[in-house]
Amino acid sequence: MTKIIAITNQKGGVGKTTTSINLAAALAKAKNRVLLVDMDPQANATQGIGIDRDNIESSTYNIIVEECDMKDVIIPSYIAKLDVAPGSIDLAGADLELANVKRGREQRLKKALESVKNNYNYIIIDCPPALGLLNTNALTACDSVLIPVQCEYYALEGLTQLLNTVLLTQSVFNPRLTIEGVLLTMLDQRTNLGVEVSQEVRKYFKEKVYKTAIPRNIKLSEAPSEGLAIFDYDNNSEGARAYRDFAKEVCKRNAK
Ligand code: ADP
Ligand code: MG
Repeated sequence: MTKIIAITNQKGGVGKTTTSINLAAALAKAKNRVLLVDMDPQANATQGIGIDRDNIESSTYNIIVEECDMKDVIIPSYIAKLDVAPGSIDLAGADLELANVKRGREQRLKKALESVKNNYNYIIIDCPPALGLLNTNALTACDSVLIPVQCEYYALEGLTQLLNTVLLTQSVFNPRLTIEGVLLTMLDQRTNLGVEVSQEVRKYFKEKVYKTAIPRNIKLSEAPSEGLAIFDYDNNSEGARAYRDFAKEVCKRNAK
C-alpha cells in the first residue's frame, strides 16, 4: 500500500517544506521507500535535500505542463530509499500556461504518479503557498492532507479557506481525500502565546493534532543550507527528536 500525503497550507513560512523534507527523510530512515515531490516554484525542498535546482534536467514543471513521464523526472537523494521529483522556478508560470486547457489539468500529477506509485510506501508532496492549480494538482493526487500550523498570532486565520478548498477538491476531483493530521510548528513553550495558540488549535482540530509539536529550533533552519535533513545535520537536536517522534506518529496512524 502506498500513502500519498500532501503537506499544505496556503500561508508561507509555516513549516511546510521543513516538514516535507524531514518527514520524508525520517520515513526513509525507518526503512520505508519514499518519494518527495516538490510542487513549489521556490524549490526549497529540492535544495534542502541537497539537489541543485539549477542543475536538473527535468522537474515537476514538465509533469504539469508537458505531461512527461514521472520516471524521467525522479532522481535519487543522498539518503537511501528517498527519491525526489524536483521542483523548479518554471512552475511559477504553470497556472497561466494551462489557462486554456479545458480538461484534465488538475489531474496531471495524479496521472503521473500512477506509474511509479507502487515503488513507494509513502509519497510526500510539498505544496506551494497558494491555492492555485499546483495546489489543486497536489490535493487531487493525494490520499490525505497534512497541515502544518505555525504557533503564532493568527495561526487559525486562513484555515477555513484551506478546509473549504479541501472540501471542494474532495467533491469535484478526489472523493476519498481525508485530513491526515495537523502539526503544530515553531512552538515556543516558554511563551504564553505559543501555549495559547497550541491549545486553540487542539480545541479546533481535536485528535487530528499530533501529540508531538515541533519546537522552534535554530538547527532546523540551518540544515537546509547544507542540503541535509535534520538527522544528518544535528541528530541530537531538539528538532531532530521532534521530527523523529512526529514521523513515528504518522506511521502509527497509518498502521491502523
Ligand atoms: P513553508 O514551506 O511553509 O514556507 P518553511 O518550512 O520553509 O515554511 O519554513 C519557513 C522558515 O522557517 C524557513 O527559513 C525554515 O528554515 C524556518 N523554520 C521552519 N521550521 C522551523 C522550526 N521549527 N524552528 C526554526 N525555524 C524553522
Ligand atoms: Mg515551502
